[in-house]
Amino acid sequence: MKKIYSETAKTKRSKEVYMDNAATTPLDEGVLNTMLPFLKRDFGNGASLHTWGRTAGRAIEVARKQVAKKIGADKDEIYFTSGATEANNWILNAYKDKGKIVVSRIEHPSIIETCQAFEKEGIEVEYIDVDEYGQVQLGELEKTLKTGVALVSIMMANNEVGTIQPIAQIAELCKQYKVPFHTDATQAVGKMEVNVKKLGIDALSFSSHKLFGPKGAGALYVRKELLGLVKRKDAAPLVNFPAFIRGGFQETGLRGGTQNTAAIVGFGTATEIDHQPEYVRELRDYMIQRIENEIPNAFLNGPRTKRLCNNVNFSFKSIEGESILIMLDFAGIAVSTGSACSSVNLEPSYVLFAMGVDVELSMGSVRFTLSKHNTREEVDYVVNELKIIVEKLRAMSPLE
Ligand code: PMP
Repeated sequence: MKKIYSETAKTKRSKEVYMDNAATTPLDEGVLNTMLPFLKRDFGNGASLHTWGRTAGRAIEVARKQVAKKIGADKDEIYFTSGATEANNWILNAYKDKGKIVVSRIEHPSIIETCQAFEKEGIEVEYIDVDEYGQVQLGELEKTLKTGVALVSIMMANNEVGTIQPIAQIAELCKQYKVPFHTDATQAVGKMEVNVKKLGIDALSFSSHKLFGPKGAGALYVRKELLGLVKRKDAAPLVNFPAFIRGGFQETGLRGGTQNTAAIVGFGTATEIDHQPEYVRELRDYMIQRIENEIPNAFLNGPRTKRLCNNVNFSFKSIEGESILIMLDFAGIAVSTGSACSSVNLEPSYVLFAMGVDVELSMGSVRFTLSKHNTREEVDYVVNELKIIVEKLRAMSPLE
């Protein structure tokens, strides 16, 4: 069989520091071990009635319980998908024919791009502004809610600058106007408490591979009342919740297709991992402090508090973020500019633009996203390398 090319396996670096955990996380060894039987002996199709099938089916239901528990939902409110992109597409599509859709300007591309495609079809979408820290303007949201809205979708925490939104307040506002509220919690789960019942969330998306789980598994939570399974007077209007992928009766017929048993099992196990947010927050603050104290003209993007515990995002004046990224990569350090999903696109970040960051500065932004696997020594190594790189690039920069 042909060998798959792997650059990292070929180039043995003396030092490797991974600080791109918002893009994806490494697979946890314990998670992998729970997945392996379903790639080998227990390969059955979860929909089959024989022993092999029932074994896979049972494992999927255990994972559903684990995933539901992680966000305070009930098991029958969880629908497995291929990831958060699919979950986001699903919820938006479920409401696209029901009226105006309201999102923030700094949503992930899986929301923004979908909304832009809807607009081309003539569907009304409103984009709520954010302030200089990426916080959604609640006054603007309330004004919009008075105009008749089908769905509000506002992310719990931003993938680029780490801004955490006042989700309970947004949910409360939506409830007042009887508008269903969806949140993309892909970056938030694991790093802060996420409880759909306490926060009053109607629908939520998240993904396994941001949680030390495998790629290719995610979930859409949909509150029972929204599905029309339970009727309640104060609930948002009932919709006939549509299937996203039609096919077999998997995911109660709402998302057909043979389930990715191993990935779903891994996702379930991954929800039980402790991300040590307090430890990561300390590392984050140490890194921010060192960069601010030691690198001139470095500006923190996003808020200081109400910020994801693992996010450090700086703009370095007079340099392009991509140049920094490439030189850090030579030093064995993985980071990203803006969001990984748009890193092939050298346009300034739309998130920073919405926050009013100067275009030149936004081109010089670099995102470091930490995890519990990073150490203080690694932070020291990265900041020391960064200092040298920034100085070198500035010496060569025509912008200086
Ligand atoms: N939403 C946010 C906020 C994200 O950060 C990401 C991943 N970059 C996604 C959605 C998409 O997740 P997935 O890779 O599981 O499709």
